[in-house]
Amino acid sequence: MTTTTSDQANIESPPMDFGDLKSQCVAPRPSIMGRRRSLSGILWLSAKGILRGLLTTLSYFRRPSTVVTQQYPENRDTLQMFERYRGRLSLIHNEDGEHGCTGCQICERLCPNGSIIVTKDKKNEATGKPALDQFIWRQDTCTFCNICVLVCPFDTLEMTGDFESSVYDRRLLVFNLNEYAGPTADQLEKLGDEELAKAQMKPMKKYQGPVPMCGGELDGIPKLDTGKSDDA
Ligand code: SF4
Ligand code: SF4
Repeated sequence: MTTTTSDQANIESPPMDFGDLKSQCVAPRPSIMGRRRSLSGILWLSAKGILRGLLTTLSYFRRPSTVVTQQYPENRDTLQMFERYRGRLSLIHNEDGEHGCTGCQICERLCPNGSIIVTKDKKNEATGKPALDQFIWRQDTCTFCNICVLVCPFDTLEMTGDFESSVYDRRLLVFNLNEYAGPTADQLEKLGDEELAKAQMKPMKKYQGPVPMCGGELDGIPKLDTGKSDDA
């Protein structure tokens, strides 16, 4: 048998029992540690907490070695960040200032948000092999996911603990990470001629262009004065 719309309208809904709805909806009185307390009890507990905090602070005068708070920036020279902290991407250079980047561009291709641009010289005149020209890193867009470090087949990237990166102009967050344009440390060593090797190492500056955001002049924005000694 089929039921018509008019039949359905005539069916009476059963009465609904909401029980003690009010007691379920009204928030209970504030309590501490699950027990209801009077106002004087709450005040006493608060005073005890403040007193305990003051005693802890006073104890540091007697036992300074127990202080855990870092006195930053006074301790800037000795402050060590945690091993896994990722503060800044760095291209590793050896003690002679040589890097191991071949310009293979794997890190550039796998960076999820295009924060790396690698340009290269297709054939270095001395080695006959490709050589790195610019390794540009955009700290302003980097998410510090560490993928570039993990995928580099030559282990020549690392994250450093540098955490003082605040600037007033985000163009200052675009860097050349390579200190020179030229072949890798291994390729330079194979040349066997120190003078010839040095001649292949064209010095690069931290903010060197041509990269629009490397402090260069933009429409209506003058060139940045990055004139600091660490600019090189
Ligand atoms: S850490 Fe991640 S986002 Fe940053 S440059 Fe490397 S791959 Fe790109
Ligand atoms: S840093 Fe490593 S992955 Fe990136 S271009 Fe250089 S060698 Fe290739």
